[in-house]
Amino acid sequence: MEQFDLIVIGGGSGGLACAQRAALHGASVLLAEPGPLGGTCVNVGCVPKKIMYHAADLAHGLHDAAGYGFDLAPGAHDWARLCERRDAWVRRLNGIYAGNLERRGVRLLRERARLAAPGVVEAGGARYSSGHVVIATGGRPFVPALPGAAAGITSDGFFGLAHRPESVAIVGGGYVAAELAGVLAGFGTRVTVLIRRDRLLRDFDEMLSLRLMEAMHADGITVLAQRQPVAVTTRAGGQQLTLDDGSDCGPFETLIWAIGRRPNTGDLGLAEAGVALGAGGEIVTDLRQDTSVPGVHALGDVTGRAPLTPVAIAAGRRLADRLFGGSPDRHLDYRLIPTVVFSHPPIGTVGLSEAEARAIHGDEVGVFTSDFLPLYHALSGRQRRTGMKLVTAGPGQRIVGLHVIGVGADEMLQGFAVALRMGATKRDFDDTIAIHPTSAEEFVTMP
Ligand code: FAD
Ligand code: NDP
Repeated sequence: MEQFDLIVIGGGSGGLACAQRAALHGASVLLAEPGPLGGTCVNVGCVPKKIMYHAADLAHGLHDAAGYGFDLAPGAHDWARLCERRDAWVRRLNGIYAGNLERRGVRLLRERARLAAPGVVEAGGARYSSGHVVIATGGRPFVPALPGAAAGITSDGFFGLAHRPESVAIVGGGYVAAELAGVLAGFGTRVTVLIRRDRLLRDFDEMLSLRLMEAMHADGITVLAQRQPVAVTTRAGGQQLTLDDGSDCGPFETLIWAIGRRPNTGDLGLAEAGVALGAGGEIVTDLRQDTSVPGVHALGDVTGRAPLTPVAIAAGRRLADRLFGGSPDRHLDYRLIPTVVFSHPPIGTVGLSEAEARAIHGDEVGVFTSDFLPLYHALSGRQRRTGMKLVTAGPGQRIVGLHVIGVGADEMLQGFAVALRMGATKRDFDDTIAIHPTSAEEFVTMP
């Protein structure tokens, strides 16, 4: 049986990062990945999504240009050409990842793999052994078990759409629903979003959710709150949804389920090896990415913890540093993870929402807000206000939450996340000189 210092199952964001960092430390590494390298993020997630986001942004920009004196009639859009160019970029990345593995001496096995026993991995009919096995198999979107639901697609199917649908129903109120609704509406598709609660992004600060819903409304998106489909009927005109209040809506040319993701833990031999799973099927790990079985580690979406690409990458690199880089205490700190929703407009958030802060810190919470029309929209003709909130805790007013929705929020957040991590206080923000004229300056000029 061939032996390696490390075997990684899954060549997505987390698996690739872990394998490459371990190889840099001199470990012999085997990585098993049957699909295109880069996993969800590169192939059906962050990368193609961000390209579609930019395209929708351009569509808005073409309309806004008139306010700036341009005589541009928004022209026809070639969806197929956009998708072709997007997919070519993704294929380029697939190739770059393969080259990186080769250069770093990671052995790539284009096979599905499973644990045959702790320390033994089976792939392509052969067995390999290692003292350390990392499971980084990610997750997948799912379709609910409702009559007719299979007629709908998920985010995976969105990236395969051959043409832009005229009407779309999106079920769900999380990241994917918010982002795809914005993209499709930007191109002129009639979008209806169905959420089972009263607001989208309900775990986010309420200001962000409410502002996003206002902006969606202004962009012509219909949000049907507190309603859930119970059945789907496919007719000539598309999919008709029967809702839990007995009403019908539709037909929609395309139905997109955006109701979350499930961890890929099936057929991995986990139960037989004794690896503990949580209630949602995720692999239970501690903060060092260790599972219940010594020598078996897990990271990224399959652990169900903060399912974001940079989190998977950071967990993978730190684990490799700990196992092979002479840093025995290195592990990922899961607090203060900044995140952006690429909605229209984008949302940036890090730390506690106001409600979370009040639950933890009670009366010691301070809240500072700003609400303004960014200069860009002064002439765009679109009244898209920007909303900002700082949440502080304690008499020293340490900033524990920072939230923004509006133009540029996506590029604004990273630097502020560093400040929060360093323990910045409101006084530190006040003492920082503003950059004018920007939206970000509002964070350091709040009274
Ligand atoms: P994945 O990237 O899913 O990789 C897992 C890999 O394991 C896959 O390649 C799979 O083929 C492989 N695999 C599965 N089973 C086996 C097996 N038995 N043997 C071998 N290989 C196997 N995050 C952000 O931070 N920013 C974004 O903008 C963003 N946008 C997103 C947009 C969408 C539409 C979606 C769905 C997700 C988005 N995410 C985003 C989340 C991000 O894509 C994931 O958090 C990230 O890809 C997780 O990385 P991972 O390595 O854990 O899993
Ligand atoms: P999310 O967990 O973000 O949201 C799932 C949504 O589906 C919630 O609104 C939830 O409602 C709703 N829901 C769940 N089950 C049902 C059901 N049976 N019927 C109706 N609605 C239901 O999942 P996504 O799929 O949107 O995204 C998955 C993860 O991928 C995200 O959590 C994020 O970490 C990552 N991602 C990150 C992006 C980024 O960084 N920009 C972009 C896209 C994805 P409720 O709120 O009521 O529970």
